[in-house]
Amino acid sequence: MADLKRCSKCKEEKPATPEYFRRNKNNKDGLSHQCKACFKAYEDKYIKRPEVREKRIAYMNEYNYKPGTRDRHNEMAQTPEYKAKQRELRQRPEQMAKDRARKLTPEARVRHRELEQSPEAKARRREQRQTPHGRMKQRSKSLQREARKRGLPADFTKADFERMMDYWGKCCAVCGRPAGEGLIIAADHWIPLTDQRADNPGTTIGNMVPLCHGQSGCNNQKRNADPVVWLNGRYGEESASEIMERIEAYFAWVQEAQQR
Ligand SMILES: [Zn+2]
Ligand SMILES: [Zn+2]
Repeated sequence: MADLKRCSKCKEEKPATPEYFRRNKNNKDGLSHQCKACFKAYEDKYIKRPEVREKRIAYMNEYNYKPGTRDRHNEMAQTPEYKAKQRELRQRPEQMAKDRARKLTPEARVRHRELEQSPEAKARRREQRQTPHGRMKQRSKSLQREARKRGLPADFTKADFERMMDYWGKCCAVCGRPAGEGLIIAADHWIPLTDQRADNPGTTIGNMVPLCHGQSGCNNQKRNADPVVWLNGRYGEESASEIMERIEAYFAWVQEAQQR
């Protein structure tokens, strides 16, 4: 039986284990003074303050969208030290208890569904949709929905999106411009969904390219045009065929990668 430890806040005695007290290397026994429940109550109150929420959301958006953050993270996640650390964290008793608790009972699932319908939850989701990440997700979803509505294939995943962005270096596939100064780079159909051809590839990785959106953005000009017709009209036949070659090389690469 573990020793008991008195929480400095609620003064209750609880087992002096990481299941009841958070780890804190600064303290002699390696545990926090406050119990987990008290910590959680404080945090919930703190995090829910509007100004704190706003700051956290702003920070997340800025950090996640800084160039290179994702690459740096992916690189780090491959190191043996990182993997070992994650394995160790997963096997801590308090984490295993958390994982067990997370397996929802049927009652909890009903409660969860009800909570998700509350006005607060709806407002929260609305807010999330306004962030750059949220907008990107919304867009992917609506592209899929649109394809399905037309009975076309639709399986463009988040991983596909990232693979596409990596290939193009997050630049527009047509004009080569990066995001910035009123332009954003987003996934777009190369052959539009409105195209009546029988083999329209729909919203799949074999038909999605990054295009720039914004004033004078390629997406705004292309709209639902046939890509070849549009390119010839905008760039003249010579430049248009160079661009076509680049994009066809990409689709060939995608196909090859799929067959591997
Ligand atoms: Zn306490
Ligand atoms: Zn462009």
